[in-house]
Amino acid sequence: MTKNLNFFNTLSNKKEKFIPLNNNKVGMYVCGPTVYDFPHIGNARPLVIFDVLFRLLRNLYGENKVTYVRNITDIDDKIIESSKKNKKTIKELTETITKSFHEDCKYLNCLQPTFEPKATEHIKEMIDMVTNLLKNNHAYENEKHVYFSVSSFKKYGKLSNKNSDELVSGSRVEISKYKKDPLDFVLWKPSDESDPGWDSPWGRGRPGWHLECSVMSEKFLGKQFDIHGGGLDLVFPHHENEIAQSCCANKTENFANYWLHNGFVTFDKEKMSKSIGNIVTISKLRENINGQAVRLALLSSHYKQPLDWNEKLIKESQNTLDKWYSQFEKINSEELTNDIIEPLQEDLNTPKYIAKLHSLYDESSKGNKSSKVKFLSACRQIGLLEDKESWDSFKKSQAKVDENFINQKIKDRNEARKKGNYKLADTVRKELEDNGVIIEDNQETTTWKYK
Ligand SMILES: [Zn+2]
Repeated sequence: MTKNLNFFNTLSNKKEKFIPLNNNKVGMYVCGPTVYDFPHIGNARPLVIFDVLFRLLRNLYGENKVTYVRNITDIDDKIIESSKKNKKTIKELTETITKSFHEDCKYLNCLQPTFEPKATEHIKEMIDMVTNLLKNNHAYENEKHVYFSVSSFKKYGKLSNKNSDELVSGSRVEISKYKKDPLDFVLWKPSDESDPGWDSPWGRGRPGWHLECSVMSEKFLGKQFDIHGGGLDLVFPHHENEIAQSCCANKTENFANYWLHNGFVTFDKEKMSKSIGNIVTISKLRENINGQAVRLALLSSHYKQPLDWNEKLIKESQNTLDKWYSQFEKINSEELTNDIIEPLQEDLNTPKYIAKLHSLYDESSKGNKSSKVKFLSACRQIGLLEDKESWDSFKKSQAKVDENFINQKIKDRNEARKKGNYKLADTVRKELEDNGVIIEDNQETTTWKYK
């Protein structure tokens, strides 16, 4: 069944109609976190974007027809370095970060992927793939290291649309005396006694990062599958290397057919980096911003465009949700409709979709039950407006004053009004407003709400 769905495919460098390998099911792989440090807002973007894609695919093909695999890289040089630096065992570190990552996913209201394999649980398959590549002359061993021989794969560079010279001149090629060619990359490397390692035909060691994704995608999605996603920074070398390994080991022409990459996130127009110290972690955001606002903010730009993270963006998202939550109502899943998904079918155009949500909101706020259901269904399609309780308690936590204080102030104000002291009454109203509380006089009572 062909659905109306188009993606910009990095592999062909153009927008293409999406046709899955198998008529009625879809397989998608997205590179997950390397659990060495708390995920930041740049990592949150692909989480939310591919969650929206997952929801869209489930909507079009059926909930049980979409397999979404997102791995956890729990063995990597960065993990070893971080465990030494923070004086934590590898186990402590990876478990702490993985747990925090799962809390981040929940906070951002991302659905669980179908499978979430851990690299360390697939070492045997990794050794098998390296053995296979060596046997077929796509790799070579040099002093306990095994390297992939890039010259053995003619299509290398196709995803990044660059030739070998251009790739080498890029700064991201690792330098090593064990390599024959600067573009060759490591499949297996030896581990010191103190570092994590597994026995292999090449001695005790550990896999290279790129290899992990090739092995885990094959295990859960097969030698060829439909969609591979990740951040733009992964195109080269990570994804280029995944393609090389998989096509050579599996003897296939293609690996994933559609490659989707999301743009970078900057913070106040600056690149986020450890040295500048401007990295915004999701766990930090969890302390005082509602996850729905973060989610909406991340979807406000098209996924391929850069996104600037700043105070204004968050404020705007919060104001929008405040407004939208006023239309909240519990609706049964059988009532849900999906009339407006077209912008998402056109390369996940979330800004256009959100613009439509605004107009649906306008109709809903003055319309009948069916326009409300339409608006709420459309919000839920992208994982918004599902939890009024958490939004209300967030608003409450934002307010600087508690209910006793507010009630006392309202009492003071009413007394002042009774005595004709309107100036004092106004001062109290202003004081409450400054503290994020709005009051409204009805005929006999005064009600209040958090701004
Ligand atoms: Zn990967």
